[in-house]
Amino acid sequence: MLAGLAILIYTAALIAIAGSVAPRLALVFSPLGKIFWIFIIFFSVYLWVSFILTILFAYTNLPLFLYLPFKTIFYLVPSAMLLGKILGVKRESFEKSYIDISNRINKKRIAKQKPKKVLLLLPHCLQAADCPWKITFDIENCKGCGKCSIAKFVEISHRYNIPTFVATGGTIARRIVKKTRPEMIVAVACERDLFSGIIDVHPMPIIGVLNRRPFGPCYNTEVDVEEIISILDTVIPHPDNDKGRESIHG
Ligand code: SF4
Repeated sequence: MLAGLAILIYTAALIAIAGSVAPRLALVFSPLGKIFWIFIIFFSVYLWVSFILTILFAYTNLPLFLYLPFKTIFYLVPSAMLLGKILGVKRESFEKSYIDISNRINKKRIAKQKPKKVLLLLPHCLQAADCPWKITFDIENCKGCGKCSIAKFVEISHRYNIPTFVATGGTIARRIVKKTRPEMIVAVACERDLFSGIIDVHPMPIIGVLNRRPFGPCYNTEVDVEEIISILDTVIPHPDNDKGRESIHG
């Protein structure tokens, strides 16, 4: 909703600018004033239509026939964030809302055009803190003891035959994306990391799944593995999905 408020402020500012600039332009060449007004009105209407369509695409069954509206809203994110800060909106709630809307739009995008190369990115904090095995860069080093969810992700990686990496931070995650060149990413992280990741890889479709932090941030975090499997099932068809699910859930 902050994007809507940002557009409202933009519209008011644009009208104020047009009100002062258009008469001066008309003095130089009379049609210029009108042309400037038409441009400002057209641009304001475009912003509102983009906002309304983005909401409809994300929260209704309306098919995603145009990606441009969401792309326009994407460019309003910095100003909406600034506005949120001024209004005292928690950064985490803003990030959560953006992740939700982005996930909904991206799910429709991938349903339309299934990506061939999917990357699964996991945060290091999913690994049990006292596990001695180094799984960053090579998840296969996990010994499958079952103490944390990494063992399940090794199975998921084999089952769907997708590259799966554990990243210790944003820089490493960006390096992995650059190296693997996926067409779509399924990422697990906290609000802050997911949000910055989504912004970084835009316009690549990314479905973000938030981790749970029962012991506080960045320590022995958890994630709903079933949710990841459901997302992958929609992208990568597998002949024996139910059998595979049973084996992953043990
Ligand atoms: S499941 Fe793998 S990563 Fe997790 S504690 Fe056991 S060996 Fe370590």
